[in-house]
Amino acid sequence: MSELTALTLKAALGGLKDKSFSAVEITEAHVQAVEAARALNAFVLETPEKALEMAKASDARRASGNAGPLEGAPLGIKDLFCTEGVRSTAGSKILGDFTPTYESTVTANLWRDGAVMLGKLNMDEFAMGSSNETSAFGPVVNPWRAEGGNAQLTPGGSSGGSAAAVAAELCLGATATDTGGSIRQPASFTGTVGIKPTYGRCSRWGTVAFASSLDQAGPMARTVEDAAILLTSMAGHDPKDSTSLPVETPDFASFVGRSVKGLRVGVPKEYRVDSMPAEIDALWEQGIAWLKEAGCEIVEVSLPHTKYALPAYYIVAPAEASSNLARYDGMRFGLRVEGGTLTDTYEKSRAAGFGDEVKRRILIGTYVLSAGYYDAYYLKALKVRRRIADDFDQAFQKVDALLTPTAPSAAFQLGDRSDDPVAMYLNDIFTVTVNLAGLPGISVPAGLDAAGLPLGLQLIGRALDEGTLFSLSGALEKAADFRAKPKKWW
Ligand code: GLN
Repeated sequence: MSELTALTLKAALGGLKDKSFSAVEITEAHVQAVEAARALNAFVLETPEKALEMAKASDARRASGNAGPLEGAPLGIKDLFCTEGVRSTAGSKILGDFTPTYESTVTANLWRDGAVMLGKLNMDEFAMGSSNETSAFGPVVNPWRAEGGNAQLTPGGSSGGSAAAVAAELCLGATATDTGGSIRQPASFTGTVGIKPTYGRCSRWGTVAFASSLDQAGPMARTVEDAAILLTSMAGHDPKDSTSLPVETPDFASFVGRSVKGLRVGVPKEYRVDSMPAEIDALWEQGIAWLKEAGCEIVEVSLPHTKYALPAYYIVAPAEASSNLARYDGMRFGLRVEGGTLTDTYEKSRAAGFGDEVKRRILIGTYVLSAGYYDAYYLKALKVRRRIADDFDQAFQKVDALLTPTAPSAAFQLGDRSDDPVAMYLNDIFTVTVNLAGLPGISVPAGLDAAGLPLGLQLIGRALDEGTLFSLSGALEKAADFRAKPKKWW
Protein backbone atom coordinates (compact mmCIF):
# COMPACT_ATOMS: atom_id res chain seq x y z
CA MET A 1 0.00 0.00 0.00
CA SER A 2 2.92 2.30 -0.55
CA GLU A 3 0.77 4.53 -2.76
CA LEU A 4 -1.13 5.60 0.36
CA THR A 5 2.03 7.18 1.74
CA ALA A 6 2.55 9.18 -1.46
CA LEU A 7 -0.78 11.01 -1.09
CA THR A 8 -0.93 14.61 -0.07
CA LEU A 9 -2.66 15.22 3.26
CA LYS A 10 -5.54 16.82 1.36
CA ALA A 11 -5.94 13.79 -0.93
CA ALA A 12 -5.63 11.38 2.00
CA LEU A 13 -8.37 13.22 3.91
CA GLY A 14 -10.54 12.95 0.78
CA GLY A 15 -9.86 9.20 0.48
CA LEU A 16 -10.66 8.66 4.15
CA LYS A 17 -13.86 10.64 3.82
CA ASP A 18 -15.16 8.74 0.80
CA LYS A 19 -14.02 5.47 2.41
CA SER A 20 -11.54 4.51 -0.32
CA PHE A 21 -9.42 3.32 2.61
CA SER A 22 -9.62 3.36 6.39
CA ALA A 23 -7.52 5.16 8.96
CA VAL A 24 -6.12 1.76 9.98
CA GLU A 25 -5.06 1.05 6.38
CA ILE A 26 -3.32 4.36 5.81
CA THR A 27 -1.71 4.15 9.25
CA GLU A 28 -0.40 0.63 8.59
CA ALA A 29 1.10 1.80 5.30
CA HIS A 30 2.92 4.58 7.12
CA VAL A 31 4.07 2.34 9.98
CA GLN A 32 5.68 0.07 7.37
CA ALA A 33 7.30 3.01 5.62
CA VAL A 34 8.72 4.24 8.95
CA GLU A 35 10.15 0.78 9.73
CA ALA A 36 11.71 0.52 6.29
CA ALA A 37 13.38 3.93 6.61
CA ARG A 38 15.39 3.48 9.80
CA ALA A 39 18.56 4.32 7.83
CA LEU A 40 17.34 7.94 7.84
CA ASN A 41 17.24 8.07 11.66
CA ALA A 42 14.26 10.42 11.37
CA PHE A 43 12.37 8.97 14.35
CA VAL A 44 13.76 8.75 17.87
CA LEU A 45 10.70 6.80 18.96
CA GLU A 46 8.25 4.85 16.81
CA THR A 47 4.83 4.36 18.38
CA PRO A 48 3.15 1.83 16.04
CA GLU A 49 0.82 0.39 18.68
CA LYS A 50 -0.38 3.80 19.72
CA ALA A 51 -0.79 4.73 16.05
CA LEU A 52 -3.00 1.72 15.34
CA GLU A 53 -5.02 2.29 18.48
CA MET A 54 -5.58 5.93 17.48
CA ALA A 55 -6.43 4.85 13.92
CA LYS A 56 -9.03 2.37 15.15
CA ALA A 57 -10.59 5.03 17.35
CA SER A 58 -10.56 7.36 14.36
CA ASP A 59 -12.37 4.86 12.14
CA ALA A 60 -14.94 4.42 14.91
CA ARG A 61 -15.47 8.19 15.16
CA ARG A 62 -15.95 8.42 11.42
CA ALA A 63 -18.43 5.51 11.46
CA SER A 64 -20.45 7.32 14.12
CA GLY A 65 -20.48 10.54 12.09
CA ASN A 66 -18.04 12.45 14.29
CA ALA A 67 -15.08 12.92 11.95
CA GLY A 68 -12.77 15.84 12.68
CA PRO A 69 -10.92 17.91 10.08
CA LEU A 70 -7.77 15.73 10.29
CA GLU A 71 -9.63 12.49 10.92
CA GLY A 72 -7.32 9.49 10.41
CA ALA A 73 -4.25 11.40 9.14
CA PRO A 74 -0.94 9.87 10.33
CA LEU A 75 1.55 12.53 11.44
CA GLY A 76 5.04 12.70 12.92
CA ILE A 77 5.71 14.81 16.02
CA LYS A 78 8.96 16.62 16.70
CA ASP A 79 10.35 15.39 20.00
CA LEU A 80 10.20 18.90 21.46
CA PHE A 81 6.43 18.52 21.97
CA CYS A 82 5.45 16.81 25.21
CA THR A 83 3.17 13.86 24.54
CA GLU A 84 1.26 12.30 27.39
CA GLY A 85 2.55 8.86 28.32
CA VAL A 86 5.08 8.91 25.46
CA ARG A 87 8.79 9.59 26.09
CA SER A 88 9.75 13.14 25.13
CA THR A 89 13.46 13.96 24.95
CA ALA A 90 14.01 17.29 23.13
CA GLY A 91 16.88 15.45 21.43
CA SER A 92 18.82 15.50 24.71
CA LYS A 93 20.17 12.93 27.12
CA ILE A 94 19.39 15.18 30.05
CA LEU A 95 15.68 14.39 29.89
CA GLY A 96 16.47 10.67 30.18
CA ASP A 97 13.26 8.68 29.81
CA PHE A 98 11.08 11.63 30.77
CA THR A 99 7.49 10.66 30.04
CA PRO A 100 5.14 13.63 30.37
CA THR A 101 1.89 13.31 32.24
CA TYR A 102 0.39 15.98 29.99
CA GLU A 103 -0.01 16.76 26.30
CA SER A 104 1.28 19.93 24.60
CA THR A 105 -1.51 22.19 23.38
CA VAL A 106 -0.40 21.94 19.75
CA THR A 107 -0.46 18.14 19.72
CA ALA A 108 -3.68 18.06 21.75
CA ASN A 109 -5.26 20.25 19.04
CA LEU A 110 -4.15 17.75 16.37
CA TRP A 111 -5.59 14.77 18.27
CA ARG A 112 -8.80 16.73 18.93
CA ASP A 113 -9.13 17.05 15.15
CA GLY A 114 -8.61 13.32 14.58
CA ALA A 115 -4.93 12.97 13.64
CA VAL A 116 -2.89 9.85 14.41
CA MET A 117 0.63 9.87 15.92
CA LEU A 118 3.27 7.68 14.25
CA GLY A 119 6.06 8.58 16.66
CA LYS A 120 8.52 11.22 17.83
CA LEU A 121 10.92 12.85 15.41
CA ASN A 122 14.63 13.43 15.77
CA MET A 123 15.93 16.99 16.18
CA ASP A 124 18.96 18.98 17.27
CA GLU A 125 19.40 18.95 21.04
CA PHE A 126 16.92 21.45 22.53
CA ALA A 127 16.43 22.68 18.92
CA MET A 128 19.90 24.24 18.91
CA GLY A 129 21.44 23.60 15.54
CA SER A 130 21.00 23.82 11.79
CA SER A 131 22.01 20.31 10.72
CA ASN A 132 20.52 17.86 13.23
CA GLU A 133 24.04 16.90 14.24
CA THR A 134 23.67 18.10 17.84
CA SER A 135 21.02 15.45 18.55
CA ALA A 136 21.88 12.98 21.31
CA PHE A 137 20.37 10.35 19.01
CA GLY A 138 22.74 10.97 16.10
CA PRO A 139 22.09 12.97 12.97
CA VAL A 140 19.15 12.53 10.63
CA VAL A 141 20.15 11.70 7.06
CA ASN A 142 18.53 13.71 4.28
CA PRO A 143 16.60 11.43 1.90
CA TRP A 144 17.98 13.58 -0.93
CA ARG A 145 21.40 12.85 -2.39
CA ALA A 146 23.39 14.86 -4.88
CA GLU A 147 23.26 13.43 -8.39
CA GLY A 148 25.97 10.90 -8.98
CA GLY A 149 27.04 10.87 -5.33
CA ASN A 150 26.07 8.95 -2.26
CA ALA A 151 27.49 11.22 0.42
CA GLN A 152 25.14 11.64 3.37
CA LEU A 153 23.63 15.10 3.50
CA THR A 154 22.03 16.96 6.38
CA PRO A 155 18.26 17.52 6.22
CA GLY A 156 18.90 20.82 8.02
CA GLY A 157 17.89 21.57 11.56
CA SER A 158 16.72 21.72 14.10
CA SER A 159 13.56 20.07 12.71
CA GLY A 160 15.59 17.62 10.60
CA GLY A 161 13.55 14.57 11.57
CA SER A 162 10.32 16.35 10.62
CA ALA A 163 11.75 17.44 7.26
CA ALA A 164 13.24 14.04 6.37
CA ALA A 165 10.10 12.15 7.41
CA VAL A 166 7.85 14.38 5.31
CA ALA A 167 10.19 14.31 2.27
CA ALA A 168 10.64 10.52 2.45
CA GLU A 169 6.85 10.02 2.71
CA LEU A 170 6.97 8.49 6.18
CA CYS A 171 4.08 10.70 7.35
CA LEU A 172 1.52 12.99 5.72
CA GLY A 173 2.86 15.97 7.66
CA ALA A 174 4.77 16.78 10.80
CA THR A 175 4.97 19.27 13.61
CA ALA A 176 8.12 21.35 13.91
CA THR A 177 9.35 24.43 15.77
CA ASP A 178 11.28 27.48 14.66
CA THR A 179 13.31 29.76 16.94
CA GLY A 180 15.69 31.07 14.27
CA GLY A 181 14.84 29.09 11.15
CA SER A 182 14.34 25.50 12.27
CA ILE A 183 11.18 24.97 10.22
CA ARG A 184 12.12 26.95 7.11
CA GLN A 185 15.75 25.91 6.57
CA PRO A 186 15.03 22.14 6.82
CA ALA A 187 12.06 22.67 4.48
CA SER A 188 14.41 24.31 1.98
CA PHE A 189 16.95 21.45 2.33
CA THR A 190 14.37 18.71 1.73
CA GLY A 191 12.00 20.13 -0.90
CA THR A 192 9.14 20.49 1.59
CA VAL A 193 6.92 23.35 2.74
CA GLY A 194 7.33 24.77 6.23
CA ILE A 195 5.69 27.77 7.87
CA LYS A 196 6.67 29.57 11.05
CA PRO A 197 3.51 31.43 11.99
CA THR A 198 3.31 34.76 13.80
CA TYR A 199 4.69 34.61 17.33
CA GLY A 200 1.70 33.77 19.52
CA ARG A 201 -0.34 32.02 16.82
CA CYS A 202 0.44 28.56 18.25
CA SER A 203 0.57 27.89 21.96
CA ARG A 204 3.98 27.13 23.43
CA TRP A 205 2.42 25.27 26.34
CA GLY A 206 3.94 21.81 26.70
CA THR A 207 6.64 22.47 24.12
CA VAL A 208 10.12 22.26 25.65
CA ALA A 209 11.43 25.84 25.80
CA PHE A 210 14.60 26.98 24.00
CA ALA A 211 14.26 30.79 23.69
CA SER A 212 10.77 31.67 24.80
CA SER A 213 10.46 35.05 23.06
CA LEU A 214 11.37 33.46 19.70
CA ASP A 215 10.04 29.86 19.83
CA GLN A 216 7.06 29.13 17.64
CA ALA A 217 5.51 25.88 16.44
CA GLY A 218 4.44 25.26 12.87
CA PRO A 219 3.79 22.48 10.37
CA MET A 220 5.93 20.84 7.68
CA ALA A 221 4.18 19.23 4.72
CA ARG A 222 4.58 18.38 1.05
CA THR A 223 2.27 21.09 -0.29
CA VAL A 224 1.28 24.62 0.68
CA GLU A 225 -2.33 23.53 1.08
CA ASP A 226 -1.34 20.69 3.43
CA ALA A 227 0.68 23.11 5.56
CA ALA A 228 -2.36 25.42 5.70
CA ILE A 229 -4.65 22.58 6.78
CA LEU A 230 -2.25 21.55 9.55
CA LEU A 231 -1.68 25.08 10.82
CA THR A 232 -5.44 25.65 11.08
CA SER A 233 -5.59 22.76 13.54
CA MET A 234 -2.39 23.55 15.44
CA ALA A 235 -3.10 27.26 16.02
CA GLY A 236 -5.52 28.91 18.42
CA HIS A 237 -5.59 30.93 21.59
CA ASP A 238 -4.52 29.08 24.71
CA PRO A 239 -4.97 30.66 28.14
CA LYS A 240 -2.15 28.40 29.40
CA ASP A 241 0.41 30.39 27.37
CA SER A 242 0.41 34.08 28.31
CA THR A 243 2.00 34.97 24.94
CA SER A 244 -0.67 33.12 22.96
CA LEU A 245 -2.66 35.69 20.99
CA PRO A 246 -6.41 35.95 21.66
CA VAL A 247 -7.36 35.91 17.99
CA GLU A 248 -9.53 33.71 15.79
CA THR A 249 -7.79 31.14 13.61
CA PRO A 250 -8.86 31.58 9.99
CA ASP A 251 -9.34 28.61 7.66
CA PHE A 252 -5.85 28.99 6.21
CA ALA A 253 -6.48 26.52 3.36
CA SER A 254 -9.11 28.90 1.97
CA PHE A 255 -6.30 31.33 1.08
CA VAL A 256 -4.44 28.82 -1.10
CA GLY A 257 -5.34 29.30 -4.77
CA ARG A 258 -6.63 32.86 -4.32
CA SER A 259 -5.49 35.39 -6.89
CA VAL A 260 -2.42 37.38 -5.90
CA LYS A 261 -3.04 40.01 -8.54
CA GLY A 262 -2.23 43.47 -7.31
CA LEU A 263 -0.35 42.34 -4.21
CA ARG A 264 2.88 44.24 -3.62
CA VAL A 265 5.89 42.06 -2.90
CA GLY A 266 9.10 43.57 -1.57
CA VAL A 267 12.58 42.39 -2.40
CA PRO A 268 14.99 43.43 0.36
CA LYS A 269 18.30 44.42 -1.14
CA GLU A 270 20.26 43.57 2.04
CA TYR A 271 19.47 39.87 1.50
CA ARG A 272 21.87 39.76 -1.45
CA VAL A 273 24.92 38.37 0.31
CA ASP A 274 28.25 37.97 -1.46
CA SER A 275 28.98 34.38 -0.55
CA MET A 276 25.65 33.12 -1.86
CA PRO A 277 25.81 30.62 -4.74
CA ALA A 278 24.75 32.12 -8.09
CA GLU A 279 22.05 29.46 -8.37
CA ILE A 280 20.25 30.79 -5.31
CA ASP A 281 20.39 34.31 -6.67
CA ALA A 282 19.03 33.03 -9.99
CA LEU A 283 16.20 31.19 -8.25
CA TRP A 284 15.31 34.33 -6.34
CA GLU A 285 15.12 36.22 -9.68
CA GLN A 286 12.97 33.41 -11.02
CA GLY A 287 10.66 33.72 -8.02
CA ILE A 288 10.35 37.45 -8.65
CA ALA A 289 9.46 36.74 -12.30
CA TRP A 290 6.86 34.12 -11.30
CA LEU A 291 5.14 36.51 -8.90
CA LYS A 292 5.18 39.26 -11.53
CA GLU A 293 3.54 36.91 -14.02
CA ALA A 294 0.92 36.12 -11.40
CA GLY A 295 0.10 39.84 -11.26
CA CYS A 296 2.13 41.02 -8.27
CA GLU A 297 3.88 44.33 -8.20
CA ILE A 298 7.54 43.94 -7.22
CA VAL A 299 9.07 46.70 -5.10
CA GLU A 300 12.67 47.01 -3.95
CA VAL A 301 12.77 47.63 -0.20
CA SER A 302 15.49 48.17 2.37
CA LEU A 303 15.88 46.44 5.72
CA PRO A 304 19.00 48.32 6.81
CA HIS A 305 19.64 46.53 10.11
CA THR A 306 19.69 43.04 8.58
CA LYS A 307 23.41 42.62 9.08
CA TYR A 308 23.03 42.90 12.84
CA ALA A 309 20.33 40.25 13.05
CA LEU A 310 22.51 37.18 13.33
CA PRO A 311 24.74 38.60 16.11
CA ALA A 312 21.66 39.86 17.97
CA TYR A 313 19.98 36.46 17.64
CA TYR A 314 23.05 34.66 18.93
CA ILE A 315 22.89 36.83 22.06
CA VAL A 316 19.14 36.82 22.71
CA ALA A 317 18.60 33.11 22.00
CA PRO A 318 21.46 31.82 24.21
CA ALA A 319 20.50 34.30 26.97
CA GLU A 320 16.99 32.91 27.12
CA ALA A 321 18.26 29.36 26.72
CA SER A 322 20.65 29.68 29.66
CA SER A 323 17.72 30.75 31.81
CA ASN A 324 15.28 28.13 30.48
CA LEU A 325 17.77 25.28 30.80
CA ALA A 326 18.56 26.07 34.44
CA ARG A 327 15.67 23.77 35.34
CA TYR A 328 17.59 20.64 34.29
CA ASP A 329 19.30 19.94 37.57
CA GLY A 330 18.80 16.21 38.01
CA MET A 331 16.31 16.75 40.85
CA ARG A 332 12.76 16.27 39.69
CA PHE A 333 12.99 14.52 36.34
CA GLY A 334 15.45 13.34 33.74
CA LEU A 335 19.05 12.29 34.11
CA ARG A 336 20.73 12.41 37.53
CA VAL A 337 24.35 11.68 38.28
CA GLU A 338 24.91 11.44 42.04
CA GLY A 339 27.68 13.61 43.45
CA GLY A 340 29.08 14.07 46.96
CA THR A 341 27.11 17.28 47.58
CA LEU A 342 24.02 18.91 46.14
CA THR A 343 26.10 21.25 43.97
CA ASP A 344 28.23 18.32 42.85
CA THR A 345 25.07 16.44 41.78
CA TYR A 346 23.87 19.47 39.81
CA GLU A 347 27.21 19.83 38.11
CA LYS A 348 27.70 16.16 37.32
CA SER A 349 24.14 15.77 36.00
CA ARG A 350 24.43 18.81 33.75
CA ALA A 351 27.92 17.88 32.55
CA ALA A 352 26.77 14.39 31.60
CA GLY A 353 23.36 15.35 30.25
CA PHE A 354 24.03 18.29 27.93
CA GLY A 355 25.90 18.06 24.63
CA ASP A 356 28.62 20.47 23.49
CA GLU A 357 26.42 22.90 21.54
CA VAL A 358 23.96 23.23 24.41
CA LYS A 359 26.86 23.86 26.82
CA ARG A 360 28.22 26.50 24.42
CA ARG A 361 24.83 28.28 24.42
CA ILE A 362 24.56 28.13 28.21
CA LEU A 363 28.05 29.63 28.53
CA ILE A 364 27.33 32.40 26.02
CA GLY A 365 23.93 33.10 27.55
CA THR A 366 25.25 33.23 31.10
CA TYR A 367 28.06 35.53 30.00
CA VAL A 368 25.86 38.04 28.18
CA LEU A 369 23.45 38.20 31.11
CA SER A 370 26.11 38.59 33.79
CA ALA A 371 26.60 41.81 35.74
CA GLY A 372 28.85 44.15 33.78
CA TYR A 373 28.13 42.55 30.42
CA TYR A 374 24.34 42.70 30.48
CA ASP A 375 24.19 46.27 29.14
CA ALA A 376 26.94 45.77 26.57
CA TYR A 377 25.51 42.59 25.09
CA TYR A 378 22.00 41.64 26.10
CA LEU A 379 20.46 45.11 26.29
CA LYS A 380 22.23 46.13 23.10
CA ALA A 381 20.90 43.04 21.32
CA LEU A 382 17.37 43.93 22.47
CA LYS A 383 17.80 47.40 20.96
CA VAL A 384 18.96 45.87 17.68
CA ARG A 385 15.95 43.58 17.78
CA ARG A 386 13.66 46.62 18.04
CA ARG A 387 15.39 48.22 15.04
CA ILE A 388 14.94 45.06 12.99
CA ALA A 389 11.25 44.97 13.81
CA ASP A 390 11.02 48.69 12.87
CA ASP A 391 12.68 47.93 9.50
CA PHE A 392 9.94 45.42 8.77
CA ASP A 393 7.23 47.85 9.91
CA GLN A 394 8.57 50.42 7.47
CA ALA A 395 8.74 47.92 4.64
CA PHE A 396 5.18 46.75 5.30
CA GLN A 397 3.94 50.31 4.80
CA LYS A 398 4.87 49.81 1.17
CA VAL A 399 4.42 46.10 0.52
CA ASP A 400 2.18 43.18 1.50
CA ALA A 401 4.94 40.57 1.79
CA LEU A 402 8.65 40.05 1.17
CA LEU A 403 10.37 37.47 -1.01
CA THR A 404 13.86 36.17 -0.13
CA PRO A 405 15.87 32.97 -0.38
CA THR A 406 15.30 30.68 2.61
CA ALA A 407 18.90 29.60 3.19
CA PRO A 408 22.27 30.61 1.75
CA SER A 409 23.03 27.08 0.46
CA ALA A 410 21.49 23.75 -0.46
CA ALA A 411 21.85 20.76 1.90
CA PHE A 412 25.50 20.21 2.81
CA GLN A 413 27.31 17.06 3.85
CA LEU A 414 27.02 15.73 7.35
CA GLY A 415 30.23 16.58 9.18
CA ASP A 416 31.00 19.52 6.90
CA ARG A 417 30.33 22.34 9.35
CA SER A 418 29.99 20.57 12.67
CA ASP A 419 33.41 21.77 13.87
CA ASP A 420 32.76 25.41 13.09
CA PRO A 421 29.89 26.94 15.06
CA VAL A 422 30.05 30.27 13.24
CA ALA A 423 29.82 28.60 9.80
CA MET A 424 26.81 26.70 11.15
CA TYR A 425 25.18 29.87 12.54
CA LEU A 426 25.47 31.52 9.10
CA ASN A 427 22.79 29.12 7.84
CA ASP A 428 20.26 31.24 9.69
CA ILE A 429 21.13 34.53 8.04
CA PHE A 430 17.80 34.90 6.16
CA THR A 431 15.56 33.33 8.77
CA VAL A 432 16.44 34.80 12.20
CA THR A 433 15.19 38.31 11.32
CA VAL A 434 11.66 36.93 11.11
CA ASN A 435 11.82 35.41 14.61
CA LEU A 436 13.33 38.56 16.10
CA ALA A 437 10.39 40.55 14.68
CA GLY A 438 7.76 37.89 15.54
CA LEU A 439 6.52 37.72 11.94
CA PRO A 440 5.25 34.77 9.88
CA GLY A 441 7.59 33.21 7.30
CA ILE A 442 7.09 30.31 4.92
CA SER A 443 9.54 28.31 2.80
CA VAL A 444 8.34 26.84 -0.49
CA PRO A 445 10.36 24.44 -2.67
CA ALA A 446 11.11 26.37 -5.84
CA GLY A 447 13.78 24.49 -7.78
CA LEU A 448 16.83 22.25 -7.83
CA ASP A 449 20.48 23.22 -7.91
CA ALA A 450 22.98 21.81 -10.41
CA ALA A 451 23.49 18.76 -8.19
CA GLY A 452 19.76 18.07 -8.20
CA LEU A 453 19.20 19.24 -4.61
CA PRO A 454 16.13 21.24 -3.59
CA LEU A 455 16.18 24.97 -2.88
CA GLY A 456 13.47 26.99 -1.18
CA LEU A 457 12.22 30.55 -1.37
CA GLN A 458 10.94 32.38 1.69
CA LEU A 459 7.95 34.69 1.93
CA ILE A 460 7.68 36.94 4.98
CA GLY A 461 4.38 38.53 5.98
CA ARG A 462 2.85 41.06 8.33
CA ALA A 463 2.01 39.87 11.81
CA LEU A 464 -1.09 37.65 11.72
CA ASP A 465 -1.23 37.79 7.92
CA GLU A 466 -0.40 34.16 7.22
CA GLY A 467 -3.36 34.21 4.80
CA THR A 468 -1.49 36.41 2.31
CA LEU A 469 1.55 34.15 2.68
CA PHE A 470 -0.55 31.11 1.83
CA SER A 471 -1.94 32.84 -1.28
CA LEU A 472 1.49 33.97 -2.45
CA SER A 473 3.22 30.68 -1.68
CA GLY A 474 0.41 28.85 -3.45
CA ALA A 475 1.11 30.99 -6.53
CA LEU A 476 4.85 30.27 -6.26
CA GLU A 477 4.22 26.56 -5.83
CA LYS A 478 2.02 26.53 -8.92
CA ALA A 479 4.56 28.40 -11.02
CA ALA A 480 7.52 26.35 -9.80
CA ASP A 481 5.59 23.12 -10.35
CA PHE A 482 8.09 21.37 -8.10
CA ARG A 483 7.51 17.63 -8.49
CA ALA A 484 10.98 16.24 -7.83
CA LYS A 485 11.23 13.60 -5.13
CA PRO A 486 14.27 12.04 -3.50
CA LYS A 487 15.26 8.72 -5.09
CA LYS A 488 14.55 5.96 -2.65
CA TRP A 489 17.86 4.45 -1.40
CA TRP A 490 16.94 3.71 2.23
N1 GLN B 1 19.84 27.25 13.93
C1 GLN B 1 19.32 28.14 14.91
C2 GLN B 1 19.94 27.87 16.25
O1 GLN B 1 20.69 26.96 16.37
C3 GLN B 1 17.83 28.08 14.95
C4 GLN B 1 17.31 26.90 15.66
C5 GLN B 1 15.82 26.90 15.76
O2 GLN B 1 15.14 27.59 15.03
N2 GLN B 1 15.34 26.12 16.71
O3 GLN B 1 19.70 28.57 17.19
